Amino acid sequence: MAELIDGKKIAQKVLEEVKAELILLHKRNIKPSLTVVLVGNDPASEIYVNSKEKKANELGILSNKIVLTRHTSERELLELIEKLNKEPQVSAILVQFPLPPQIDERRVRDAISPKKDVDGLNSQNIGKLINGDETLAPCTPKGIARLLKEYNVDVEGKNAVVVGRSLLVGKPIANMLLNRNATVSICHSKTYNLIDYTKNADILVVAVGKSHFITADMVRQGAVVIDVGVNRVKTKSLYENALVIKEDVDQAAKITGDVEFDAVSKKAKLITPVPGGVGPMTIAMLMQNTINCAKLANHIRRLS
Ligand code: NAP
Repeated sequence: MAELIDGKKIAQKVLEEVKAELILLHKRNIKPSLTVVLVGNDPASEIYVNSKEKKANELGILSNKIVLTRHTSERELLELIEKLNKEPQVSAILVQFPLPPQIDERRVRDAISPKKDVDGLNSQNIGKLINGDETLAPCTPKGIARLLKEYNVDVEGKNAVVVGRSLLVGKPIANMLLNRNATVSICHSKTYNLIDYTKNADILVVAVGKSHFITADMVRQGAVVIDVGVNRVKTKSLYENALVIKEDVDQAAKITGDVEFDAVSKKAKLITPVPGGVGPMTIAMLMQNTINCAKLANHIRRLS
């Protein structure tokens, strides 16, 4: 039976480190701040943005939320980013995705000043990551790398397989594993015979967005399995117990990962649960990246 990777516990440890760094920055009269831009009123995005703001406030990081209508043009958004780039009191800028269709997300990512790019998705920061500088690496992959470190997973020379090639998760975590000397395969929807890859993985990272996509037969005995997926599954029995109003049905949805947890955990050596695995690490790393943005703005390499 696999040992559980406790993302909540490690996230708490990261947040304690963030608090300690924050105290040292405040002593130098540096006040890290996070500005979040939300375009439109997508309910899921609103929840994400509010939880980021709440976590920042809890820690004592200044936060500011700017909400624009879903009719905002690309030009208006780029002008706002340009303004925020120039404001010295703004350490970190996060534009919540997805954006309405009239706005090109790549242009927006690349408009954010690389030093304020808290999500680490700007082309310059992706380039730095490939070059081995992970100061502002994307938050979810950064969280995964930290989990592997905390659980003493020896990455060097291992067969690492990443299923999914998004800019947000798959591509950056593959490069971070490569930075740690793993032999990395990246699989995606066009991969033939996926099982031939996953079955040989010492470390398997799954970021697909399909509930229970990875089954036990696809996993090697003793593998380390990192499940990034967050899927809302509305099971029949949960539906039946819910009243027929939308909120109840939504609450009745169960969160599942991309990995068939019960069966795979009998084969794996280490596994992340969903929820409570990668998820809490993402927000903790966002806070760490906010601190890193403030350090970059002030040319600080080490605080202590
Ligand atoms: P995404 O942009 O939709 O990418 C999904 C990837 O899965 C794509 O590369 C796609 O391949 C691949 N894929 C789809 N079907 C496949 C198949 N049958 N076989 C192999 N690969 C397949 O998603 P994402 O943003 O990376 O997110 C993935 C999941 O992680 C989602 O559930 C998301 O909610 C979750 N997530 C969680 C966190 C967290 O903090 N816990 C953070 C980010 C994301 P193609 O490129 O060929 O289309």
